[in-house]
Parts: sequence; C-alpha cells; structure tokens
Amino acid sequence: MSIQKVTVIGAGTMGNGIAHVFAQSGFDVTLVDIKQEFLDKALETIKGNLARQVKKGSLTEADSSATVARIKTSVAMDEAAKGSDFIVEAATENYELKKKIFATLDANAQQGVILATNTSSISVTELAATTKRAERVIGMHFFNPVPVMKLIEIIRGIKTTDEVYAEVKALSEKLGKTPVEVNDFPGFVSNRILMPMINEAIYCVMEGVAKPEDIDTVMKLGMAHPMGPLALADFIGLDVCLAIMNVLHEGLGDSKYRPSPLLKKMVAAGMLGKKSGQGFYKY
Ligand code: NAD
Repeated sequence: MSIQKVTVIGAGTMGNGIAHVFAQSGFDVTLVDIKQEFLDKALETIKGNLARQVKKGSLTEADSSATVARIKTSVAMDEAAKGSDFIVEAATENYELKKKIFATLDANAQQGVILATNTSSISVTELAATTKRAERVIGMHFFNPVPVMKLIEIIRGIKTTDEVYAEVKALSEKLGKTPVEVNDFPGFVSNRILMPMINEAIYCVMEGVAKPEDIDTVMKLGMAHPMGPLALADFIGLDVCLAIMNVLHEGLGDSKYRPSPLLKKMVAAGMLGKKSGQGFYKY
C-alpha cells in the first residue's frame, strides 16, 4: 500500500514531534487526542519548532507553512483511523489504555494498514496479540526531541512480517531518520543499555562513591557522553526511569536490573527531576 495519509494518536511530547516530521516529509497528517485544547497546544509547539528551524536556516518559510497546512487535528479516533494509510500511536504509556486504542484502531483501519506504537517499554507482541492483525503491528520508537534525533528503533513483534518491517524501514528513511532493527524484548536496545547505566550511577551516589556532579563529569569528559547519566535521568524524569527499570527487572527476571533504593526513595518523595524542580540537581 502506498502511504500518504498518516494518523498520529496522542499529541503530547512525542506525538507532536512525530506529526511534525511526517508533515515536513510531505505526508498528510491527522493528529488525534482526547481534547481539542491538547491538539491546539501541540500545533502551537509544532509552529514554534518550525519557526526555530526557519531561523536557523534549515527550512524555508514556505516549507514551514506547507508543513503546517498538511496537519489536521481530530478528537474522533475511529474516523481518523478509517481514512489512514498508516497509524502510529504515541498516547500515554499505559498498557490498558493502549489496548483500548489498538482495539479501536484495529476495528476501524482498513485491513492492510500497519499499526505502529511508539511505546518505550510495553511489549509490542502483547499489544499485537490484542488485535486481529498481529503481523501488521510493529514498534516505531522515536527519540525526544523527534525533529532533532536521528534514530528510530523499529521493534518487531514475534509475528511482525518481513514485508511490514521493510515498509516501516523505508518510511523511517523517508523521514530522514536512521532505523535499526530490534526484536521485542524488555527495554528494546536503547533502554536495556541506557537505564542500567543510569541506575548504576544512582547506586554510585547512594554508596557515596562520588557526588552527582563528579559522576556526570566522569562520563562526559572520560567517555565523551554529551550529558552525564544523572543530568539525563533528571531530564527523562526519575519516575520514568523507575518504571523502565521495573519493566527490565520483571521482564528479564535478573537481579542485575533491580532499581536502586535511592531511585525508589526519590520518586516516593516526588523528586522527579527537571519536571518537579528537584532531582539530582535543582531546577
Ligand atoms: P505525553 O504525556 O506528553 O503525551 C501523551 C498524549 O496522549 C497526551 O496528550 C494525552 O492526552 C494523549 N492521550 C491519552 N489518551 C488518549 C487517547 N485515548 N486517545 C488519544 N490520545 C490520548 O507522553 P509522551 O512523552 O509523548 O509519550 C507518549 C508515548 O511515547 C509513550 O508510549 C512513551 O512511552 C513513548 N515515548 C516517550 C519518550 C519521551 O522521551 N517522552 C520517548 C520515546 C517514546
């Protein structure tokens, strides 16, 4: 199926970025959320991000206007699904919610349409199993901020066909991204490697090995990381880090993935990082 009309479910941090890159690459996009005010806010964010690209000289004013003109908004997911060639879901990270969304998409989208999910930690295979088209369900894991980050992890559920994988790979390349092929295991590749590193940095703080600033300096200057693991944890949100460690711990059943007690304590105290004003650093 040739893909022109793309529907993006969820207009939050990731959804607005995903809509932005599809529209900028010439696709007609319908962005769906539960309230019009969320959609209006997402459109404002997209316009602001496009304006920044124009200011930097990486996009013309005309291309920016054409990108905005290709984005429609809707609060009717069933209607949007009916008219799409490709759907990518980027709603709140909650399995029960995503299951309901996939049921609606599966019931309304045409038979051949691929349903992709941007989930960071939910099993693609499990989500696929709730539909009647498991072979056409796939993970398309974008990175934040979507218009800037080049990577897409493409996650194959156990039943995802080679043809569907190839279509999503080609689509990712049309967006100017670099796709990598990953099989469906807890945390995929990105979080399987990143989160234990962050967790280990938190153990270092807990055990008094070094202060947060010094741990981050070691990783920045010694390992050429653009950002230290603790600053990155604050940026991602410590609650999100804890949730992902729990997914790794439960999903892989190995004690090496146990979340640090300090991480649990900080989350319980509402010290969630940048979004709460306090994490390993003050904001
Ligand atoms: P977010 O909270 O910023 O946005 C989620 C949006 O989904 C909200 O606007 C919410 O109103 C909407 N939503 C909730 N229920 C809906 C429904 N029934 N129909 C339509 N929209 C609905 O979250 P986010 O950070 O954009 O994350 C979205 C997804 O992307 C999650 O699965 C997350 O794991 C994944 N992800 C996030 C990041 C990140 O850095 N934030 C990176 C990669 C993947």
